[in-house]
Amino acid sequence: MNWHDLYGMETPRSQLGMAISSGRLGHAHILAGPEGSGRRTFALMVARHRLCENREADLHDATLASCGTCPSCKQVEAGNHPDCQTWTKPEEDKEFKIKIMRDLIENLSLKSTCGRGRIAIIEPAEDFSTETSNCFLKTLEEPAPGMWIALICQNPESLLPTIRSRCQMLRFQPLSNGEVEQILENKGVSDSIARREVARLSDGLPGLALNLMEPSERSFWESCRKILLAKPFVGSAWADLVKGKIENLTGGPIQRAAIRAVLRLHMGLWSDLLRVVHGLDPRRQPKSAEKSLAEVANRLDAIRLTALAEATTATNDRIRYGATLALAIESMGDSLEDILSPPRIG
Ligand SMILES: [Zn+2]
Repeated sequence: MNWHDLYGMETPRSQLGMAISSGRLGHAHILAGPEGSGRRTFALMVARHRLCENREADLHDATLASCGTCPSCKQVEAGNHPDCQTWTKPEEDKEFKIKIMRDLIENLSLKSTCGRGRIAIIEPAEDFSTETSNCFLKTLEEPAPGMWIALICQNPESLLPTIRSRCQMLRFQPLSNGEVEQILENKGVSDSIARREVARLSDGLPGLALNLMEPSERSFWESCRKILLAKPFVGSAWADLVKGKIENLTGGPIQRAAIRAVLRLHMGLWSDLLRVVHGLDPRRQPKSAEKSLAEVANRLDAIRLTALAEATTATNDRIRYGATLALAIESMGDSLEDILSPPRIG
């Protein structure tokens, strides 16, 4: 992993670089952007830079360079550097509990193992309870020497204003289709048709695009889209397919991440349907899906399209707050059926 292989990070990287070279680097940054936009990768690249054993003695290196080969760089990349820890909310908890924050603060106050400071990557920061937020604010007011905190979140507006005002903000935007295609090519994807199709579907999110490069992921989405665009739409068939997808995945967090990626693809489909309703070409789905998109668009109006997006967002929230996956999926299947194949009255 090197800066020149990463796309869409020029702006946050130069912002951070400028803060470093002017000696105004804060102790904490909010890394805000959609899931899959590279926030975690960016945080790890900064961690690697700060902890690299071969880093220039110059602490004002604005390029955020690191060698990538020393034991420290390798440990950061493998996620087992003693001075760089990632803190996440256990999936069964609705909020980021204060106990985790206290452990995190204690960890940051320990002496740095390698003498180059300590780093905490927190995700997702929008799930802090009020108590956790207040405890965190104290850390920002009395920072341990050499500490750096990355607060990863999608929606910085949901953080307490007092946290936002004490952190520097770095925003991550989705990439262009061309940039996503380039990333896939750099990763060794030689099939240019697959690269173009996946770049369109991924909506500018390299994380989602890399996931979709798995042939099984693409064929899953094709089957799913077929069910969604069929007449009539059968909610239970859709729910069975989606539940089947996560059956073989081990671990709640992996299953939840897989479902969130699937829901994001649904949002892309609804947005294509909206385009077709307004007489525009779909932006994400391939040519082969255009005919069935047009048929479905014919029976939908703006109100029902909004309802589709709302049902998807509501499922995402329920999953985020620890709902049972199978139940959340079945309930979404019922909602989609009500919207896509409403019972005829009279
Ligand atoms: Zn290094």
